[in-house]
Amino acid sequence: MSRSAHPAGPRYADVLPEGHYSAPPADLNALDPKVWAQTVTRDEHGVATVGGVDVKRLAEEFGTPAYVMDEADFRARARAWRTAFGPDADVFYAGKAFLSRAVVRWLHEEGLNLDVCSGGELTTALSAGMPAERIAFHGNNKSAEEIERAVTAGVGRIVLDSFQEIVRVAHIAQSLGKRQRVQIRITVGVEAHTHEFIATAHEDQKFGIPLAGGQAAEAVRRALQLDGLELIGIHSHIGSQIFDMSGFEVAAHRVVSLLRSVRDEHGVELPEIDLGGGLGIAYTSDDDPREPHEIAKALTEIVTRECEAAKLRTPRISVEPGRAVVGPTAFTLYEVGTIKPLDGLRTYVSVDGGMSDNIRTALYDAEYSVALVSRSSDAEPMLARVVGKHCESGDIVVRDAFLPADLAPGDLIAVPATGAYCRSMASNYNHVTRPPVVAVRDGEARVIVRRETEEDLLRLDVG
Ligand SMILES: *Cc1c(COP(=O)(O)O)cnc(C)c1O
Repeated sequence: MSRSAHPAGPRYADVLPEGHYSAPPADLNALDPKVWAQTVTRDEHGVATVGGVDVKRLAEEFGTPAYVMDEADFRARARAWRTAFGPDADVFYAGKAFLSRAVVRWLHEEGLNLDVCSGGELTTALSAGMPAERIAFHGNNKSAEEIERAVTAGVGRIVLDSFQEIVRVAHIAQSLGKRQRVQIRITVGVEAHTHEFIATAHEDQKFGIPLAGGQAAEAVRRALQLDGLELIGIHSHIGSQIFDMSGFEVAAHRVVSLLRSVRDEHGVELPEIDLGGGLGIAYTSDDDPREPHEIAKALTEIVTRECEAAKLRTPRISVEPGRAVVGPTAFTLYEVGTIKPLDGLRTYVSVDGGMSDNIRTALYDAEYSVALVSRSSDAEPMLARVVGKHCESGDIVVRDAFLPADLAPGDLIAVPATGAYCRSMASNYNHVTRPPVVAVRDGEARVIVRRETEEDLLRLDVG
């Protein structure tokens, strides 16, 4: 449901359709395993624990707000993707969802490859020891300097995103005496979001080269001619937070039709096809994501079937899940500050972070869940809105949620499924410092990205 900002301000947008709120959950203390990281549970005192460490100890030791990441869960999800696709396919974790050196090492150990889309992400990946040949470099506007660094490092593939870039990468590779492995990113006219997709001839967005009008075929023609490039395949990424596989079906059909025309025109069978990322996760108990093995089976079947129909050898498949690997593995731990009941509307619960650590609610109308985690409670449910501390009325973390009516300042609450696109999109709005990422495993907690300090802010501000 779209609940975009009301022009007269958020207070006036509260005329919501009948039945908008789901009923309060039967048990406010329950921590739905669909939404929370695998090792999250409550101890005998009702305090939530993760990786065997209780959240009160985490708050004391590391402060709030903090992103708390379940390392065992991260590794298990990474491994599940790797295992599901098997040795004849590649899984590239999309680093933009969340990247740190610890995460790069976990990915390396679990056998995943890595997508980066900027010089900063490339530096992080290389500095943590990810072999360059397992890195793919993305982006619609890579600088010449970034391309040069990627080629010099020897990245496994650069995903070409425009006609200019085809020439640019070829030129840089050649001047470095190299032949760079590349894929061409095409837009197939499929836009997929959650439970629906739209298939059109054209896509009105900045990424990729349109399949429409023969442009993608022309891009292949040019790439095949250039000595600096080794064209290994075609790339397509159709959207985000997708639950329904039918968008991939249309996309694969269109990519394979391009592969067939490339074979017919050039006598070349491109050996790889990348279907991108975008697989959905559960942010609330209403979401029902698919398991990696179901996704792998579905995608492999789709590509195999399309290639058989086109009498092509089935190419090696790669996928690029970001959110589906890291999203569910972390929650954001906040301390409750002020509580403001607005009669007849809802209760505003302010936390010590907000849109600087989670912009997704303000930016995309994203839905989240929330729970009281420093204790359990038998109080009645209260309709709440969790808001941050920023000077902005759109600073909402969880738009509609039920929390126990005895909630009090000093309680700890946590928002699950914040592993993806929260720390990586965090800002310093209002000069609020960015929270740390704390990894927890087997009863031990350690900082993997430290909290930003006010000295950090002043260091950049050179006066
Ligand atoms: C963003 C992105 C992904 C990852 O998307 P998720 O929704 O996190 O799975 C993968 N590939 C490309 C090209 C992307 O831009």
